[in-house]
Parts: sequence; C-alpha cells; structure tokens
Amino acid sequence: MTLANGRPLLAMPGPTNMPDRVLQAMMRPAEELASPSITGMTDSILADLKRVFRTSGETFIYAANGHGGWEAAFTNVLSRGDKVLVLASGRFAIGWGEMAGMMGADVEILPGSWREAVDPAALEQRLRADAGHAIKAVMTVQIDTASGVVNDIPAIRRAIDAAGHPALLMVDGVASIGCMQFEMDSWGVDVAMGASQKGLMGSPGLAFVAANARALEAHQSADMRSGYWDWTGRLTGLGYMKHCGTAPEHLLFGQRAALDMLFEEGLEAIWARHATLAAATHAAVEAWSAGGVLGFGVPEAAQRAPSVTAVLTQGVDPAIITDFARDVCGVSLGLGIGDYADRAFRIAHMGHLSAGALLGVLGAVELALQAKGIPHGAGGVTAAIASLAKAV
Ligand SMILES: *Cc1c(COP(=O)(O)O)cnc(C)c1O
Repeated sequence: MTLANGRPLLAMPGPTNMPDRVLQAMMRPAEELASPSITGMTDSILADLKRVFRTSGETFIYAANGHGGWEAAFTNVLSRGDKVLVLASGRFAIGWGEMAGMMGADVEILPGSWREAVDPAALEQRLRADAGHAIKAVMTVQIDTASGVVNDIPAIRRAIDAAGHPALLMVDGVASIGCMQFEMDSWGVDVAMGASQKGLMGSPGLAFVAANARALEAHQSADMRSGYWDWTGRLTGLGYMKHCGTAPEHLLFGQRAALDMLFEEGLEAIWARHATLAAATHAAVEAWSAGGVLGFGVPEAAQRAPSVTAVLTQGVDPAIITDFARDVCGVSLGLGIGDYADRAFRIAHMGHLSAGALLGVLGAVELALQAKGIPHGAGGVTAAIASLAKAV
C-alpha cells in the first residue's frame, strides 16, 4: 500500500521545496534580453544578494549549479600552481578543492573529521608553518551537507589572522546562506559562494558568488580566469555582460520572488526558524537513538548544522528508511554520501519548510522505523513536538 499521493515533500539537502510563489513567478513569457525589466531585475538581484551575503563587495550571478559556483569562485582569484589549503569536515570542501586541482591548483587538505567541525588551532598551526606564505587561499564550507557539520567561520578567520597569514578566506555557503547567520564583511570572508536551490528557495540552476576588495585585487593577477566565469567582463557595467550573454530569465524571475519572500520573513527570523526546526529534529533523533541503531553523525550538538542532520544507521541499510519514506509517505530524505554511503540518511530542514512539514518528515521516518521493524526508541515525533512547544 502507498500513501504517497498528495504534495511530495523534499527533505533532502537540495533541491528544497520551491514555494508556489516562486513557481508562479516563473510561469511567464521570455522577454527581450536587454529590456528594462530584465536588466532592472538583474540589478535588483545583484543588490539583494549583497544584503543576503552581508557584503558591500561585488556579487555575481551564474547560470550554473553549486559546482559551477565553485569554479567561478576559484578561477577568478587563483593562478595555476597556487597552493590552496582545503579544510576537511566532510565531503564538500574536498570536492571544491578537487575541482581547483583539476584546473592546476596545488591542493593540500588539512585533515578533519566527518564527525566534528574544523579545528581552528590546527589551521593556525599549519599557517604558522607556512612562513613563506605559499598558501594563497583557505577553502572551507560553512555547512558540510554530507556530514551535517557546521564550521565556525569567525573562528577560522581568527586563526588565519592569529597566524598573520595573508591567504584569502573562501567560503562555500551553499547549504548555510539563508539558513543561518553569515556575515561576509564583518567576518572577513574574501570570497563566498552559494546556490539558488537550498536556503535561497529558488529553482536549481543559479550560482552566486561574492567578492571583497582583496579578492578583486587577487583577481587582477589570477591566470585561471576564463571567459564565462570572469568577473572583469561582468563588471564592465554592460547589461548583457552581467550574464556573459542572455540572462537565465526564468530562473531569475523565480529567484526574484524567492528573495522577496526571504526579506519579508527577515533573515534573522529565518535563521531562528531553522535553528528551531533543527533542535526539534535533534530531539527526534535523540529519542530514536535509544534503540541502539540510529545515532547522530555529529555527536556535539553545537557542531550540528541548522539545515541538515546526518543520522547514522548502524548495521541497517539506510535505503530501507529512505525508500519507505519516499514510496509510502511521499517524503524524500537524503541518503548518506561519501564516507556515509550505505551508513546514514540525512534529514534536510532547510529552505521553505514549516513546523508542520517538518513534523510530517519526522513522522515519515518514525513510521518507516516502525513498519520496517528497525529498533528505535519510541516517541521521536513526540520529543520533536515538545521541543517546538518549548520554543514557541
Ligand atoms: C549542494 C552543495 C553543493 C553543490 O551544489 P550543486 O548545486 O549540487 O552543484 C556545494 N556545496 C555545498 C555545501 C552543498 O550543500
């Protein structure tokens, strides 16, 4: 029997549930690419991205997914042979570094764990040892979507400063910007990137990059630059060049509506909503863990991401849970990837998600555990409700 008909619910860490308002905004004809409405919309999105990234630097829009945003970010500031230090805390910073390596960067990984945040002291020590300042950039994620770890970006900045090191700080905010506090300028982030389809509630297909003055200076001598990603072309002021060609109009129509929704709710309120939904998720996982099978990927609560929770499934194939949730309940969870392949599932609680929707997601997990006879502590959803009741 399936009970999956009805509106499908995405609880995987991207893409996320697209608001109806965003979908409706996209349902319109294409327009002349240089029309005032298209160029004005581009300018408004570029300006509003500064509000989201909290920067007075430059912002850029690409018709690309997050991987494209990665390439846009590093090709604009690096040269072939440049050493970059990638801070491991799961899968995503490493993937970013691998792409830089393919383009000719000399990639070093600061070892880390899937179970805890980057250690700023280890970073400081490594940078102090680089007396000749060979390392040109430090690449990190704020939230690693594979491990569910959240890194402390201000502490990473302090470590770089404490070492007196000039490396650029480059941050992947795909799974964090629009879900939790991110302060590009006041935290001293030089290059930040994000994408449309997670906390920013748009359609998959847009990547966003922001650069401060130091990054723009590094850009002047970068030799990995290539035509489509290049910031210089996009900064000429010509409307057509802001997209290096025709604007991805429908993605922009959707993103415009999504940004309006973000500002109507308010970034601080959105961060609080994410923190509250994450705490409720943690309460449920904590209760289920009493059965001895499920457990947190990240033991330390303060290092768990507010947008996604990785749940280890010791000795049980996590696909039993995710298949049941999808096929019987209409809820799409994330499977573990990388080190967590076949060992974990992930509950995303990011983007356009209400308490009601989250309880539906957690209910689907608990139903799967019961229906499939997977040992678990009772009352996960009840614990989530208690957590929410306390918060509201
Ligand atoms: C999803 C994600 C990416 C990759 O984005 P795609 O749009 O799938 O290319 C990169 N970094 C992080 C942290 C992500 O969560």
